[in-house]
Amino acid sequence: MTVSGATRVGAVIGDPVAHSLSPVIHNAAFAATGFDGAFVALAVGTADLGAAMAGVRALGLLGVSVTMPHKAAVIGHLDDVRPEALALDAVNCVIREGDRLVGANTDGPGFVDALTAASVDPAGAKVLVLGAGGAARAVIRALADAGVAEIGVANRTSDRAAAAVRLGGQVARTAAVEDALDYDVVVNATSVGMGMAAADTVLPLPADRLRADQVVVDLVYEPVETALLVAARAVGARTVDGVGMLVHQAAAAFGLWTGLEAPVEVMDAAAREALRRKT
Ligand code: NAP
Repeated sequence: MTVSGATRVGAVIGDPVAHSLSPVIHNAAFAATGFDGAFVALAVGTADLGAAMAGVRALGLLGVSVTMPHKAAVIGHLDDVRPEALALDAVNCVIREGDRLVGANTDGPGFVDALTAASVDPAGAKVLVLGAGGAARAVIRALADAGVAEIGVANRTSDRAAAAVRLGGQVARTAAVEDALDYDVVVNATSVGMGMAAADTVLPLPADRLRADQVVVDLVYEPVETALLVAARAVGARTVDGVGMLVHQAAAAFGLWTGLEAPVEVMDAAAREALRRKT
């Protein structure tokens, strides 16, 4: 990467943020497309969010990825927010439209694009979403837009499940993990499995609730190979790992910032290599 006087700077803001894979993924995309950009991670504490966003304006940053804990609070520092981000009360991507800063959320479209890339068409499917946090909410809304037949939402805390169901509209209802056999697609959007070795065999649902003709998706990507994916393959189910959504939400952001088609395969390879080095 050669930085010149014309280089555009993009950043991910969060706290903590040093673990973020966004710089690796976006710098790989800049290099592959020849876009004159550089992407960095900036640690921004809660008290400094307003000043940081003023800095984004003043410095003319290309765009910003937003991660924890700022996804909701950043909305108060933007000129406009796209409907999907407003519905989720979460912005993961800030775009410049002239002098205006606009918030978007690419997590849900990134999830659906990851399914499509894995040759999984969610239209007409019965999908069980485990979890009701930020990731689950984005997935539920995107699945409703993708025309699924039914969304079951199973979460440890029932009132959070009920709130997440409302994002799925007519086709969504609360469910129990034990109901998983009734679904075509099972998505783990809980943090169960995160930071655990697959050999730990900690699962977000009983393994006997999986069957061979299901698609099992784990949004956890650290580790890439989770106990859930191992258990799903053991019963003959198809699996989609969490790197797919991570890369496709970044690809959507890249497209919004640069107007270019994202080099998804390059971004995927960069993310997997960075994750491999972490282990
Ligand atoms: P979050 O908002 O903190 O939500 C966490 C969810 O996990 C909640 O539904 C929580 O249930 C549930 N949970 C946590 N511990 C549990 C346990 N021991 N048993 C049952 N349920 C448990 O987190 P998030 O942002 O949605 O992220 C969830 C996971 O998705 C994380 O592993 C994250 O890394 C991953 N993720 C991946 C991508 C991607 O691109 N692949 C994107 C976003 C997130 P309660 O409501 O009962 O607390």
